[in-house]
Formats: sequence, structure tokens, C-alpha cells
Amino acid sequence: MTANVAAFDGNAISPETSAFLARSHKLLIGGAWVDSGQSMETRDPATGLALASFAIGGAHEIDLAVKAARRAFNGPWTRMPAAERIALLSRLARLMEQNARLLAELDIVDNGMPRFIAELTVANCVEMVDYYTGAILRIEGTTTAPPRHITAETEALTYTLREPVGVVGQIVPWNVPLSTAILKLAPALAAGCTVVVKPSEETPLSLLALGELILDAGLPEGVVNIVNGTGAEAGAALAGHPDVDKISFTGSTATGRKIVHAATGNLKKVSLELGGKSPVVVMPDADLNLAVPGVALATFFLQGQNCMAGTRVFVHEAIHDRLMDGLATFSQAMVLGHGLNPATQQGPMISDAHTRKVMGYIDGARAAGATLVTGGKRLDRPGNFIQPTIFTDVAADMAVAREEIFGPVMSVLRFSTTDLDEIAAMANASPFGLSGSVWTTSLSTAHRLAARIRSGHVSINCHGAVGTNIPFGGYGQSGWGREFGQEGLDAYLETKAVTARL
Ligand code: NAD
Repeated sequence: MTANVAAFDGNAISPETSAFLARSHKLLIGGAWVDSGQSMETRDPATGLALASFAIGGAHEIDLAVKAARRAFNGPWTRMPAAERIALLSRLARLMEQNARLLAELDIVDNGMPRFIAELTVANCVEMVDYYTGAILRIEGTTTAPPRHITAETEALTYTLREPVGVVGQIVPWNVPLSTAILKLAPALAAGCTVVVKPSEETPLSLLALGELILDAGLPEGVVNIVNGTGAEAGAALAGHPDVDKISFTGSTATGRKIVHAATGNLKKVSLELGGKSPVVVMPDADLNLAVPGVALATFFLQGQNCMAGTRVFVHEAIHDRLMDGLATFSQAMVLGHGLNPATQQGPMISDAHTRKVMGYIDGARAAGATLVTGGKRLDRPGNFIQPTIFTDVAADMAVAREEIFGPVMSVLRFSTTDLDEIAAMANASPFGLSGSVWTTSLSTAHRLAARIRSGHVSINCHGAVGTNIPFGGYGQSGWGREFGQEGLDAYLETKAVTARL
């Protein structure tokens, strides 16, 4: 199926992306592209038009992929000298760099993200592969005092080894397709694990292109397997597979619960990066020049389809009206459109069904008595566009204040106290704890609030300031474990203690 280039608001895609879309898209199992006889179609959420069809697998294909990953784990990958693994992963990073436009354009047309986010994402992904490749030579254990009952009799030596966890299943969402996969793949491969990736059925394309680059880089067969399919079939089969040693999952909290249940059979290890409803606290002394664009983008970045989205905005009454004026002006000026257009600041929702869900929250907030500051409408044009929407006078018990909406909807809750414990208690009144931000010109207030907010990541006078080397993950129902940085690598390593009687 060839993409309708005219449908991209007149913004042409590169010949490489066009050629990629026109190819047939199979499953990567054991180093070969395999057909399953079943397929799905993926659509451009900015236009609703079909982009490509792709093969999907179920329990049988997942089983084949796990077997291929096990063979690679028992064979070439784990035993490969570090220098060779470094060379292969470095080659992959360079191929990703050379194909940056293809990877970015596929996430733009498949997911709808604006070009500047897609380009940033690909650059971050290359950095991520380089970062973990560089860490391979620093995977090291320790020496320690041997146990007393051995040393009572003889000299001895105790040391630890860091070893790969084994065959890892990685299940990823649609909101940043390439990135959520790379930040799992890069540390897993550096650690010496082999992998079965299950992309989201909404956004299969960039990971299929990555699969081609993985083969071009020369990674041994079976080290990375990519099986598209639905969550209910392929995802559930991977999470429950008895020969998978670990599942690393990014997605909704509801699916995270299912993953945990499915993992109990063989007690595989589980890492979870789940949903959020992150607080943004704006103190009366906040610098509005920073806070207006910063708070707006805390919610509207990636059209709000962002796990870190700061959608519970607590605003001190002394600054409330000035902030609302600034946020309304900023949001109304945001350019909505196709992600391929460099002017676009906000793209579409991923699907019509998700758009209707987000609109349901907007209608619900109106009905519950929240005050609409700006936005609130679905655009009358093809695709799934919702205006940046701000509600104030939101009460803490309204659904828009409690639930993850995953759309461009900000809930503003006004407060009058300056007691930091009371403010933190409001911010912490959520089962989630993924991100958060504090806006103030007082150094003391900033750090005291950062210490009080129960969340894996807090930014001061900015929001969602994540990076390759900075650990990221959730408190509470936002997840288990950390990705990025050294902790992201540790998540794929076991520690073995060895004692030798000398
Ligand atoms: P989702 O939970 O619906 O799906 C995520 C993945 O799980 C998909 O690949 C899906 O096919 C698969 N899946 C669905 N049901 C499954 C099952 N029963 N067993 C196994 N796999 C199954 O989430 P989504 O809608 O794709 O993504 C949005 C969610 O992801 C939001 O809640 C967002 O906050 C979260 N997210 C979190 C982070 C983070 O780092 N914490 C990052 C990005 C997205």
C-alpha cells in the first residue's frame, strides 16, 4: 500500500519513507522476516488515511520468537567478547543516525507527533544506544570478604559477577514508539540479554524500520525479535510465556496489572513504566515569563499523550488570574496540524476512539461545573484534533482532576495557603507518582517542595526534564523500577556471588 503523499498537508515525505511504506511488513523472528498470514492496517491519525498493512502474530509467533531469543542467549550473544558487542551496537547507532529522517518521519505519520519532537526523539535514541554501548566496559562486580566459616579453615576469595537477566519481553505503547522501545533495547542488549519486542498495534512502523537496521548492523539472529500484534494476543502471550525471564512494560496502569498477573506463572521479573497524573505547583512568586509557556507545555507537549504530562495544575490564588490570561493566549496561538509541517506545535490524538474518550472528559468537566478557560472542541477537519483545553475551578474529586486523560486537557485547582506541607498534600493526593514540577523564584521553596512531592521525577521551573543519564520511573501506581542511566542497565543484570576456597 502506498501512502497518499497529498494527504500530508502538502508536506512530502522522503523517498526512503515512501519506499518503506510501500514494502510488505512482516515479523522479525530469528533473524528473518516471517509472515503470519494475519495482518492489520495502520492509519495516519492526522488524516485518517491508511499508511500500510503489517503482519501480526499471536501465541504461536511469540513462542517462535522466544525460542529464537533463547537460542541466541545460549549461543552467540552472551558469549560474544565485549569488544565485538560494542562494535555491533556502535554500528547500529550510526545506522540510526544515517536513517534519522526515515525513523522520524515514520513516527510522525504513524503517531502524529510534530516533527520537532520526532527529530528530538531520534537524536535521543541514538544517544541512548551510544550511552549504553559505552557502559558495556563498565559492567563490573566487586570483591568482598569471604564468609567466616570458610576463612576459619582456609584462605578464600569472594567476588560478584553481573550477568544478563536472560530472555526479555519488551511491551511498548504508541505514544513515543521508537523511544519507549530503544530505552529498553539499548540497556538490555548492552547487558547481554536477548529480546522479543511487542510494539503497539497503533504504531508498528518505526520499530519495523529499526528491525531492518538491526539486521544491517549484523546483530546475530534471534538477539532482537519484533512481533507486532494485539495486546490481548501477542502481548498476553509474551507476558505469560514460561521461558521469558523478564518483562519490561511501558503502558497504562490497567494493562500493567494484567502483566503482573500474567508473570506469576514462572515468576518472571517485571519492570513497569505506567500512567501518571502529574502535579504542577505554581507559587505566588513564580516568574510568569517561564511559567506561562512551561505550564502550558507541561500539559500540551505531545498533545498531552505523554506519561509525564503535568495535568493537575495547582495555582496560588494570588497569581491565578494572570497565569490563566497568559495560558489562554499561549494555548490559542498553538499551531495544530500535520506533524510533517515544521510549523506544527500540536498534532492529532492517536485514534478516533481515543479522541472520543478525551472529549468525554471535556464534556464531563463542563457538566461537573468546571470553568472552561479556552479550547474544548474537536476540530472540524479530517483527523483527530482537539484544541488545547484548560479548565479552572476544578475540584479535586472531579474525574478530570483524578484520572489520566492522555490528551490536551489541563485541570487547574486554585489554592490559598503558603504552607508547603499542605500544598504537597494536595499534590500527593493521587495514586500516581511519575513526574511533577514546581514554579517559584524562591530557591528554598523550590527544594522544600521538590523533597515533599511523592514522585519519581520533579522539575523546578521546567517540566519533564528527563535525559539519557537521569533515572526515570514511578512512585505508587506509576510503576516498578527505573529506566535511563545506570539504574536502567541494572534492570537487565543479575548479581552472582562466587566464593572460592583457595
Ligand atoms: P496500553 O496499556 O493500552 O498498551 C501498551 C502496550 O501493551 C501495547 O503494546 C498493547 O498492545 C499492550 N497490551 C495491551 N493489553 C495487553 C495485555 N493484556 N497483555 C500484554 N500486553 C498488552 O497503553 P497505551 O494506550 O499504548 O499507552 C498509553 C499509556 O502508556 C498511558 O497510560 C501512559 O501514561 C503510559 N506510558 C507510560 C510511560 C512511562 O514511562 N511511565 C511512557 C509512555 C507511556
